[in-house]
Amino acid sequence: MPKAFPRAVLVAAVLLCAPASSVFAQTRPAPPATDFARLREETAKRLAEYLRINTSNPPGNELATARWLKDVLAREGIEGRILDTAELGPGRANFYARLPGTGGGKAIALVHHMDVVPATRAQWSEDPFGGVLKDGHVWGRGALDMKGHGIIQLMAFIALKRAGVQLSRDLVFIANADEEIGGLGSRTFIQRHPDLVGGIEYVLTEGADTRVQGGKVRWFGIDVGEKRVFWKKLIARGTTSHGSVPLGDNPVDRLVTALARLVAWETPVRLTPAVDRFFKAQARYETGERRGWLADAEAALGTPRGRTWLLSEPERNALLRNTITPTVLTGSNKTNTIPQEASAELDIRLLPDVDTTAFRQELLRMINDPKLALESLGDVAPRYDAPLDTELFRAIERAAGRLLPGVPIATPISAGASDRPYYAAAGLICYGIDPWLVELEEGRLSVHGNNERLSVRNIEFGLRLYVETLLGMRR
Ligand SMILES: [Zn+2]
Repeated sequence: MPKAFPRAVLVAAVLLCAPASSVFAQTRPAPPATDFARLREETAKRLAEYLRINTSNPPGNELATARWLKDVLAREGIEGRILDTAELGPGRANFYARLPGTGGGKAIALVHHMDVVPATRAQWSEDPFGGVLKDGHVWGRGALDMKGHGIIQLMAFIALKRAGVQLSRDLVFIANADEEIGGLGSRTFIQRHPDLVGGIEYVLTEGADTRVQGGKVRWFGIDVGEKRVFWKKLIARGTTSHGSVPLGDNPVDRLVTALARLVAWETPVRLTPAVDRFFKAQARYETGERRGWLADAEAALGTPRGRTWLLSEPERNALLRNTITPTVLTGSNKTNTIPQEASAELDIRLLPDVDTTAFRQELLRMINDPKLALESLGDVAPRYDAPLDTELFRAIERAAGRLLPGVPIATPISAGASDRPYYAAAGLICYGIDPWLVELEEGRLSVHGNNERLSVRNIEFGLRLYVETLLGMRR
């Protein structure tokens, strides 16, 4: 529906959104082959179209977006493939396209998910599926998570093709279904197409934790890992009887005793190289001894005050250790009845490089009751723990460094879950980035919340970041 998006309005909106903060002031002139001012307008228009295709999951409806992507690329002379429709079910699909390189090294894949979480129209100021351009922003569910990112990838891909730029590596564009619910899209794609996946070395997709506060970019994040979901159910079984005469075989007693041990367990603290670098990037925004503690967390963890301070902040604590959080509890449903069974669900998150078999043994040792059963809840996500010293990592680092001079590059690991571990399990090196500069508060409120939007200036930032990163891989 480009009619709702006339060029004059778009240009006016871009002009209205003149620099208001220092965030964008330092962008460097583009490589000569790309007219980024034009490209960002075209990208905004494409994003608006993409947002108008409602891919709320459930049910997903990604076949419609896959067809749209195929049409857009066909107009550029690039053949796209709609895949996995039978396996993913009615209305669903994955999508794949490739730009051949000159033949040097395995491919770089730009990967996004086409589905979005549902939106409640009444809570939004604009139609979440209207693709509205207003106040210099494209509004809609998925603008940040992650259709906006996907369209920036798509248009960078197209820009290279138009400019006749050939990388040595193939450049691959992948759009998956179902990231927001089960990751069925990426898992199906990886499982069914070893021929396509096997030719890929790197995946560049969503991340990360770039921090923008008060118009200042504190750090640019390249996600390099993810804590692993390791959910367990702890079950005690005993003999049901009347609560007035305890028999000494009450499963609730045994369960709470074990839980008390787990809650009191201070899991070992360990600083991984990625987290160390993440903390170092944060150091310059602290003063005094706190700056020192972040700059050298290894040393700080050896001192009582440094350790206490580092662990006192919940997000930092979660990056330094495995966490065990009891959540769901069941026992009797009557005050005077001892149940036959009592159970607790444990939300366990492991550092990316933890050996799960060894951790399970450790967990059983802490529970210290052979009569308790420890069952798994769902699958354990594969290990995702990318190296910091690769050609693509350095290319992102250089591109971000040129766009944001003086801003430190941080390497967070994520405590949440995404599709990346599935790609990592197939042997691909995955990095997560946010190709824009969005205020912390705005991102927190709008991603999976209301009034999600992406500014046209951020679209230009993302295009520059991607094009410069990919050109940086040219040999
Ligand atoms: Zn996402």
